[in-house]
Amino acid sequence: GQLPPLPKTGAQRETFGQWRAPGWVKIHGVSKSFGQLKVLDNIRLDIKAGSVTAILGPSGSGKSTLLRTINHLERVDDGFITVDGELVGYRKSGRTLYELKEKDILKRRAEVGMVFQSFNLFPHLTVLENIIEAPVSLKRLSRPEAINLACDLLARVGLGDKTNTYPRQLSGGQQQRVAIARALALRPKVLLFDEPTSALDPELVGEVLDVIKELARSGTTLIIVTHEIGFAREVADTVIFMDAGKIVETGSPDQILNRPANARTAEFLAKVL
Ligand code: ADP
Ligand code: MG
Repeated sequence: GQLPPLPKTGAQRETFGQWRAPGWVKIHGVSKSFGQLKVLDNIRLDIKAGSVTAILGPSGSGKSTLLRTINHLERVDDGFITVDGELVGYRKSGRTLYELKEKDILKRRAEVGMVFQSFNLFPHLTVLENIIEAPVSLKRLSRPEAINLACDLLARVGLGDKTNTYPRQLSGGQQQRVAIARALALRPKVLLFDEPTSALDPELVGEVLDVIKELARSGTTLIIVTHEIGFAREVADTVIFMDAGKIVETGSPDQILNRPANARTAEFLAKVL
């Protein structure tokens, strides 16, 4: 459909009402280039509150960039994204039509958790301190409240006994579970995972996937870039295949993984299965 008009006045901003749906991620006509390279090419995607979306695709297809735009770490050249019904920016051919102030973008970003391939824990902080850092520094919680929450979250990811441990003393799988607990500490409505098990030894993949499966049941909206096809089949409501900056195919796990309609999807699956 047509992009809505430039939201200059309050009344015009109201016309964005139709794009606002709490708990949803709406990606509307999003394009993004790095120099000459079009990394995202007119992406349109509606992600329902509480759903699990698995994104598959070859290296370089734009998966990480798409997650980074959802997290407002990357500004789009065209289109807009709303997370939990909130518009952050709206650009057309590189021209900014609407954009929140940086400080408000930071606030919005805190509502979208992100877990990376390389756990990115603070090495000089204990597990507990890693988890309470953001909620305390963003003044979301008092220190004692944050500690209580951190203990609950660590128990949930099976690491209740590791509060005073430093990241280097943990296995990769344990570090990634701490990273998940840390992302949850801001109580995000949407949680993004960028190949969360790709850096792990094979025997540690299962423990991280089990934590994500548990989250999938808890009603948090999850968007997961993964090459774990079996996991996607089991957990995802929707599977998306991306190639060269485009969404090539979207459907149920059965549709995309068992009966792909597109030759590129089939070719990719043949390689990773
Ligand atoms: P994927 O996660 O699917 O492997 P990415 O989104 O990381 O793909 O990257 C898509 C393309 O964009 C790649 O060709 C990559 O080299 C390029 N790219 C990503 N980030 C940048 C950047 N900050 N500057 C320039 N090129 C980038
Ligand atoms: Mg990537």
